Amino acid sequence: MSELHCDPGFRQLLAQHFSIALLEQHPGTVYGLWPDFALAYMNPAWFRFARDNQGEPVISTDWTRGRHITDALPEVLHPFYVELYLRGLENSSDQPLLHDYECSSAQEYRCFNMSLHNLGFGAGLLVINRDQQVGRHWRTPHPAQSELYRDSAGHYCQCTHCRCYRNRQQNRSNHWDWIPDWISHPPSPIDYGLCPGCFAYYYNPDNR
Ligand SMILES: [Zn+2]
Repeated sequence: MSELHCDPGFRQLLAQHFSIALLEQHPGTVYGLWPDFALAYMNPAWFRFARDNQGEPVISTDWTRGRHITDALPEVLHPFYVELYLRGLENSSDQPLLHDYECSSAQEYRCFNMSLHNLGFGAGLLVINRDQQVGRHWRTPHPAQSELYRDSAGHYCQCTHCRCYRNRQQNRSNHWDWIPDWISHPPSPIDYGLCPGCFAYYYNPDNR
């Protein structure tokens, strides 16, 4: 593990709670945060995931040590993750906080589980992501018909969680469709939102 990928001070903190060798071999992305959300550690899987998922909104190879993880988030998810990371830093239970999220490709349905580990009295946070479910996509595919999805300003709106697009037809109020062609080759410009299903299930503060 190079200094480039782990802050020396964070390495000391991490070693009190985890086997760094195991984190380095972990198949899922693992990252460490200082209390101000600056990236302090990224495991090799972080870089593999970034390489294999170019163009996805959350992670890119630009996000290296010292950058603030919250700056990488779509605006619509910003308040949720700030609150989640803060709760993780304040968590005094033996059990980590958990959060599920989707990051599907055009072909595969992929759901991940995130666990947030307080590294002792809010000194830092370790975030471990695991595959929870990977399989064939189950949503009904829709053809990429621009006229159905553009708003009056010519923008498209994609759910940042499930990656469905908002259907703008008058009679389809707040209806979102799965469009595989636009997962591989997104239209432009895109605004990011949350569809009602994802908001209600994953991001509604009343569900906690
Ligand atoms: Zn959604």
